[in-house]
Amino acid sequence: MALHLYNTLTRAVQTFTPLDPAGRAVGMYCCGPTVYDYAHIGNWRTFVFADLVRRTLEFSGYQVRHVMNITDVEDKIIKRVREQNTTLRDFTGRYETAFLADLQSLGCRPPHLTPRATEHIPEILDLIQKLTDRGLAYRAPDGSVYFSIEKYRGCGCRYGQLLNLNFDELRPGQRVASDEYEKESLADFALWKARVPDDGAVFWPGPFGEGRPGWHIECSAMSLKALGQTFDLHLGGEDLKFPHHEDEIAQSEGATGQPFVKYWLHGAHLLVEGKKMSKSLGNFFTLRDLTAKGFTGREIRCLLLTAHYRETFNFTLDGLAGARTALARIDECTAKLRDLAAGAAANPAAAAEAPLVAAFRSALHDDLNISAAWATVFDWVRDTNKRIASAQLNPTEAAAALAAWEQVDSVLGIGQKAEADVPPEIAALAEERTAAKKARDFKRADALRDELKAQGWVIEDTPKGIKIKKL
Ligand SMILES: [Zn+2]
Repeated sequence: MALHLYNTLTRAVQTFTPLDPAGRAVGMYCCGPTVYDYAHIGNWRTFVFADLVRRTLEFSGYQVRHVMNITDVEDKIIKRVREQNTTLRDFTGRYETAFLADLQSLGCRPPHLTPRATEHIPEILDLIQKLTDRGLAYRAPDGSVYFSIEKYRGCGCRYGQLLNLNFDELRPGQRVASDEYEKESLADFALWKARVPDDGAVFWPGPFGEGRPGWHIECSAMSLKALGQTFDLHLGGEDLKFPHHEDEIAQSEGATGQPFVKYWLHGAHLLVEGKKMSKSLGNFFTLRDLTAKGFTGREIRCLLLTAHYRETFNFTLDGLAGARTALARIDECTAKLRDLAAGAAANPAAAAEAPLVAAFRSALHDDLNISAAWATVFDWVRDTNKRIASAQLNPTEAAAALAAWEQVDSVLGIGQKAEADVPPEIAALAEERTAAKKARDFKRADALRDELKAQGWVIEDTPKGIKIKKL
């Protein structure tokens, strides 16, 4: 069975066919973090979902180019920069580094490209210029440049592709400068926001006067640059459907005259302990809050991967304990297989045809039916344990079983239990240092190395990654 995915654009499950005539290359854009705070577990559900999509595509033989932007200039960021009396780069750099470290703790494959909005101001201005030239954008009395929904619709384009908007009930013609707005008040949205005193030092010169970009135009500019006028997949949380994604479509199609994205995929919300997450209810968790409670990124990933991406998921601490037990069962089984295999070689081509892999693949190809995929894994664990107990597996068969498991794990991404007994807070610091190095923030990387040393741990950089050792 070919890969099938639910496309928000067509409101149907469709066979996935990439735009590449050779049927191999796939361009995928996922809206990245707004780096104004640590990402919470609801955000992480979206990023683990994006990782599942990417890994499933790679498992299915596609060559994916995965782009995830960093929103490093936006209303909330500017507010905090002002409140904390710091600079934009110092403020956002801290949360960007933490985000990339957390992404790694959760076993997500790093995107191929993580463009920052502030490094794409010329592309953003170009796009606004195109929209202005086409008569789809205008400068308002407040000096800001807005996208005109009326003009866009007037030229035969459709606003409201991802959700049905009833234009008779909406009040058109209003304008919003804010990056977020309600769908009841359909409004022209800001592409370029004229500089105001509250922006402090956060502004750029441009043909429309000093100012800064709106949030929506940032994603259009970065995705078009990285993946071209039309690309295969655009992902995000369902809360981004409107206005953010609808506005991305309008700006991109308005500027290029070409269809923007072929498949739109949206991940559902998450509840925590049965309730909407909120700081006042005490059920608001960042990844760091959970690792401080002793859970690992691997356990959190495993739990986030249990529910179908289009269903609301109830995240609980009991669920995390359940994920720990489930992982222990898998670890025990694969450890026994490794002992039995004792280094015997397996045929990778045969592994791809193993019943476990075939069943797992058909579950995932059915719009990422992850519950069915896990069921095939646990059936296999039970069956393998029985065969081990009754001494039915020789080393070659054990190696073949392990090779099949590795194919499945290339999607689940849970790997093996970490061997060194490194406390989660030390592992988090080490990962933060790796991310800082990757972001060329060597000052921060060195500071983190010193901090680890002060706590009695040393990091060794090896060709296979980092090793953490007790001093
Ligand atoms: Zn976006």
